[in-house]
Amino acid sequence: LGRRELRPEGTVVRVGGATVGDGSLNVFAGPCAVENRQQLLDCADVAEHYGAVGLRGGAFKPRTSPYSFQGLKWAGLELLAEARAHTGLPILTEVLDPRHVERVAATADGLQIGARNMQNFELLSEAGKSGRPVVLKRGFGCTVDETLAAAEYILAQGNDQVILCERGIRTFEHATRFTLDISAVALMKQRSHLPVMVDPSHSVGIPALVEPVSLAAAAAGADALLIDVHVAPEQALCDGKQALLPDDFGVLMGKLELLSMGL
Ligand code: PEP
Repeated sequence: LGRRELRPEGTVVRVGGATVGDGSLNVFAGPCAVENRQQLLDCADVAEHYGAVGLRGGAFKPRTSPYSFQGLKWAGLELLAEARAHTGLPILTEVLDPRHVERVAATADGLQIGARNMQNFELLSEAGKSGRPVVLKRGFGCTVDETLAAAEYILAQGNDQVILCERGIRTFEHATRFTLDISAVALMKQRSHLPVMVDPSHSVGIPALVEPVSLAAAAAGADALLIDVHVAPEQALCDGKQALLPDDFGVLMGKLELLSMGL
């Protein structure tokens, strides 16, 4: 269902009032995890101030260690709703469990399926049934073909509001957190009519590389970016090391704006 030939003009996905796949490069930004009310509202203000079209933030966090912060869960989702009311930005948040989909979808404007769950087929089907737009992140050990096949699980439920997200894969290179597969961006755009998002933050894991990699993603044809922004990264409970500071996010947004004007 996702093959490009079936819809050569491409699919436009609507996340609340934001559109992805309409020819412009839109940015979803926010903290990796919702940590507390003030942190979220401050980060949401930054995202809104610099022109992000949506707020990202994890209420349910898929952590490698069970002893790491697992997210504020339902309380975090309520805070996201408050941040939406505060900024007007639609909210995009991860859902981890098929049993949670309906309840998360009742609040969130867009559902994120994380890299670790890309082949959780029950979760994909439930997300498809929810009718909400879904950002499907490529598993870091999965091929492009497997990613496109995973998207079919959502599409097969009659939900064509799917955004494919390249977030880096595992390679022998450990200088960056993962290796952003920039060719996959161009390839998925050729093979599928679904819009493609890139997450430079989770792929490189180094704030100083987020800007050049974002610009590369734009050049490769990405429709959207997912950027970690934090007002106090050193205090973050999750992935603080990769988050951009507000000013640096502002600089990146300025450069993306110039790029969109062809400068
Ligand atoms: C995230 O975006 O919060 C996240 C956990 O990313 P990934 O699933 O790509 O690791």
